[in-house]
Amino acid sequence: MKNKTKVFFVTGTDTSVGKTVVTYLLSRRLQQEGFRVGIMKPFQCGGDDAAFLKKKLELEDDITDINPYFAKEPLSPHLAFQRQNMKINLSVLLDCFQRLCEEKDILFVEGAGGLMVPLKKNYYMIDLISDLNAHVIVVARTGLGTINHSLLTLQQLRQYALPIKGIIFNRSSRVKQGVAEKTNPDEVAEHGQVTVLGNIPYLRNVRTRKADDLVKETRRHIDIEKILEESKTLKAICRRRKRWDQEYLWHPFTQMQEWLMEDPLVIDRAQGSYLIDGMGRRYLDGVSSLWVNVHGHRHPVIDQMLQQQIKRLSHSTLLGLSNTPAIELARELVRITPVDLKKVFYSDNGSTAVEIAIKMAYQFWQNIGQKKKTGIAHLANSYHGDTLGGVSVSGIDLFHKVYQKIIFKTFQVDFPDCYRAPKGKSYPDYAFECLDQMDAFFKENARTLAAFVVEPIVQGAAGMIVWPQGVLTRMEEICRKHHVIFIVDEVATGFGRTGKMFACEHENAVPDILCVAKGLTGGYLPLAATITNQKIFDGFLFDYKDRKTFFHGHTYTGNPLCCAAALANIAVFKKEKVLQRLQPKIAYLEKRLKKFLNLKHVGDIRQKGFMVGIELVGNRQTKEPFPWERKIGARVCQAVRKKGVILRPLGNVIVLMPPLSISTQEIDQLLDSTYQAIQSETE
Ligand SMILES: *Cc1c(COP(=O)(O)O)cnc(C)c1O
Repeated sequence: MKNKTKVFFVTGTDTSVGKTVVTYLLSRRLQQEGFRVGIMKPFQCGGDDAAFLKKKLELEDDITDINPYFAKEPLSPHLAFQRQNMKINLSVLLDCFQRLCEEKDILFVEGAGGLMVPLKKNYYMIDLISDLNAHVIVVARTGLGTINHSLLTLQQLRQYALPIKGIIFNRSSRVKQGVAEKTNPDEVAEHGQVTVLGNIPYLRNVRTRKADDLVKETRRHIDIEKILEESKTLKAICRRRKRWDQEYLWHPFTQMQEWLMEDPLVIDRAQGSYLIDGMGRRYLDGVSSLWVNVHGHRHPVIDQMLQQQIKRLSHSTLLGLSNTPAIELARELVRITPVDLKKVFYSDNGSTAVEIAIKMAYQFWQNIGQKKKTGIAHLANSYHGDTLGGVSVSGIDLFHKVYQKIIFKTFQVDFPDCYRAPKGKSYPDYAFECLDQMDAFFKENARTLAAFVVEPIVQGAAGMIVWPQGVLTRMEEICRKHHVIFIVDEVATGFGRTGKMFACEHENAVPDILCVAKGLTGGYLPLAATITNQKIFDGFLFDYKDRKTFFHGHTYTGNPLCCAAALANIAVFKKEKVLQRLQPKIAYLEKRLKKFLNLKHVGDIRQKGFMVGIELVGNRQTKEPFPWERKIGARVCQAVRKKGVILRPLGNVIVLMPPLSISTQEIDQLLDSTYQAIQSETE
């Protein structure tokens, strides 16, 4: 939020605890002290509190800004507005909020009911507080039940990490003060570790008496100084975090010399398809937080599953022991992956998943006595991760060339970048020509080749290169024919990315070993799995003394929290019919992407499901790339960030990879902003 208005959100431990009275008293008192005070009551269901406050506080703001959503029935907002056929639109509300902030020093926003009042699906009053960046004042009545209600409210606020200003007790009825009423403030302060800002006695005729009289009567019962007390402003906190980032952090794949000169964007929270920074600015997560997020951020099913798992077990080892989520997830993975796959080996990330596959394949042949089969083959422009094993089977020069002397030797198989087939060759014929060469090469080297590792259908990091139908099956055939273990790396393509659960399914390809990671936990936690068929597994069943065990394992292998997140992720696929609902969105994306060819520097648009690469070229006729130093991809992504969208390019290729849960409206935002950014940066 651009202005300096202090925003307080007044919420209650329950309905009818006196939020409006408290808002009224605080506002009037501050008006008396010379502050320009505003009020917002975003949702009102029954009653006339907003009009009352506007009148009594002599506010000139439009009543429709003070109260944009009004329902006649005194019900929970989501019900009240549904029954009036009214849709709650957050951006309308935020516009009113902005207008109100403009001329004020202080704005009080009054809730309706308590924190967990639903406003719409998966969005509660507490989410609104979070979105408004407000300090929270809790109002509680005194009496029996107050301790419980107050502590629950405080606990929930803390789970959301919201800044709690304090609690105000309000006697809303004239019943005699008993022990409970008298001890409530101290008890809540003690157990809730919260500041008591006030303890207001019962007030007669609030509605009809003069405001100034009420302020006088309550003056000594409300600690206005504590409310105004300058905690560190949000801006200062955000500035400090940026400084600390530059002081302490080393970022991956980042030239830190450049980073240190720039203003880092610090993400503080997220919701659905959006990432949110410390100041509350929202950014569409256009690359799913580096290709991992699936069902949106803070999905209630995954959140809840994790919360439950934390209360049971966070970690125990798989070395010599087992644990519940690891077992259940292994069974699920065997169920949802291609039929032949039977055994699950866990690790923590995509690179290790691939390394494990390679070690397994290598040792498999050693174990069964075919000692010469040691070679690993991969495509020349492949990407399988950044650990030395991953780098060994990758071929992206920029990332990997420097490590040449410390990685192991492999066989590189040429495969065309479909957009740049050599002169005189046409696509897709040329792709199959290359496969014939691969066949010949495998035939010649069958005695020494152990395994072939490949990203199926879409080669992600190479620039979203999409293969024609049939390539993957042909690769499988070649591997089978020459007894080469077929390792498929679905780290990027798995979990719905290409429109099917796994890219293999597009061609019914069946790997010997399958690697998954990125989307496995829905983008929540680092977890990977290397899944093998029975034959590979059996190649390790020997006597203990034979020393043919698979000697590999990471300390956090099969971590229960990660496995629980993955179980929830898979459950959501089923529960929300994610793949079915994805299909029209893929078609919509495809249709809208065509328009990008109007831009004269767009050379190629590649799409498979929700994996999109838009290749920018200096000259469309000659396909000549933009010069490397011009950093055109990075510049487009900088420009699009100013429009509230986060992207990360692959060189000159703009990558779009939104969460599968993105709405068509959000797809529009993503594409419109990207289009404009490409236009402005390439012209
Ligand atoms: C990202 C990626 C990896 C590496 O995964 P990390 O979790 O980053 O180690 C491996 N293979 C493919 C295809 C990938 O896209």
